[in-house]
This record gives sequence, structure tokens and C-alpha cells, in this order.
Amino acid sequence: MLLHMSTWAEVEGFLNRSRTVVIPIGSNEQHGPTGLLGTDWLCPEIIAHEAQKSGDILVAPTFNIGMAQHHLGFPGTISLRPSTFIAAIGDWCRSLSAHGFERLYFLNGHGGNVATIEAAFSELYAEASFAGKPRGFSCRLKNWWELKGVMGLAASQFPVGHGSHATPSEIAVTQWAYPDSIKTAEYSPKIAPTGPIREALDFRARYPDGRMGSDPALATPEKGGELVRMAADGLLEDVAAFTAEANPQLAG
Ligand SMILES: [Zn+2]
Repeated sequence: MLLHMSTWAEVEGFLNRSRTVVIPIGSNEQHGPTGLLGTDWLCPEIIAHEAQKSGDILVAPTFNIGMAQHHLGFPGTISLRPSTFIAAIGDWCRSLSAHGFERLYFLNGHGGNVATIEAAFSELYAEASFAGKPRGFSCRLKNWWELKGVMGLAASQFPVGHGSHATPSEIAVTQWAYPDSIKTAEYSPKIAPTGPIREALDFRARYPDGRMGSDPALATPEKGGELVRMAADGLLEDVAAFTAEANPQLAG
């Protein structure tokens, strides 16, 4: 079930059978010469939307702008600074919690978001801790590539040239979902360099075409479809486990 395609009455009905909501979260940032700018928010969205076709989960609108300051040297990248991102995540969580959602599951598509999303959770918990009150909801962050079986599948599909940015696995996922938007280019070098991540000008100087350690030419829509099916199954299993987590405040 997609929240943005539902009515308030349908969401109220969903709350009668579940208090869990899944929020795809990512980033709009350059992904090399052939990767779509939306890759990091499209991947978790594609996986969550696929999962809700076979499982009774509610998927919120995709939080599609994240922490991508290091990619701002490339046109099309849009970034929130960490403090803005923390504030926005907080208000998404407070909104959903106000309706009765108690388990807020963030399915993430951008490694650069992780530190800030975890900091946002800590800010939310701290509000309750300083007040000496229960928070009323729990948050979970999961990167889509960490869902059960996904990393092993990607390693078998791409034993060399996977890399860490503009990877063939994430590009394959978008190719499967949007075959009309597949782009091609001659990559030079074939496998991109690796190194540290700092500010935007430094990033562009180190990684001139935007890739890090990857060979996106290895991506195919078929491999993307295999990854999406594995990830969607893993998501349903992980969301069920999160939903079933005991709440010691209620048990006490
Ligand atoms: Zn990415």
C-alpha cells in the first residue's frame, strides 16, 4: 500500500492492523556519466514499491534529497546540509508518530546519509530522554544492499568492478525499473579510482567522471531484476521482524 496513493481513511484503516510504516530515503546526486541522478532514491523506492505488491506494508513518499555535499561539483546534484536533513527527518517522524505509527522503518539508498540519519534518530530519542518520557515510536535504518542475500548476490554478479559509487548493482536496479532511461558511454579508465571523500571540488578532482571504484558497464536490467526480487523479499522479512520487536515499556 502506497501512502501517497491512499486516502486518509485508508491510512486510518491500515493503522487498525499495523503501526509500521516504511520510508524510502535517498539522495539526488550525480552517478557518473551513465547513472541517473535519482539512483540513490530510486533504488529504495523501486524495492519498497515492489515489496508492497506482495506484502501488507505501508510505504510513505520517498524522502529523495539527502546529504550529498561532496557531489555538488556535478550539475543536478541537490543536497541538504546535515543539520537541515536532521531537522527534516525529525518532522517526518513527528508527523507519522502523531497519527499513531510506532515503528518507522527507513530503507536507505545512500551511504552518505547514514551518519546523519542515525544522528536524527538520536535527536528524537534525546527529546524523550531529557523529558523522562517514552518516545512512543522506534526508528530503524536499513541500507537496501544490506537486506538478506543482496550483498552476496551482487558479489556473485559483479566479482570485479563493483566499487562504491555509481556501482553496477544500483545502476542495474534502475535499468530494470526504467529500461527506457538506460544510458551508455565509453568509460575511461574502465574501473574508476578509489580514495577519500571530502568537499565538492576535491571530489571532482579525484573522480573526474563521478564514479568511485566502479565499472557501471557491467549493469544489466536482468541483474537488476534479480537484485530487486532478493531485496523486496528481504525487506518484507526485516519489516516483519521490526514490527514484532518487543516493546519493554508496554511489557513492564
Ligand atoms: Zn548511489
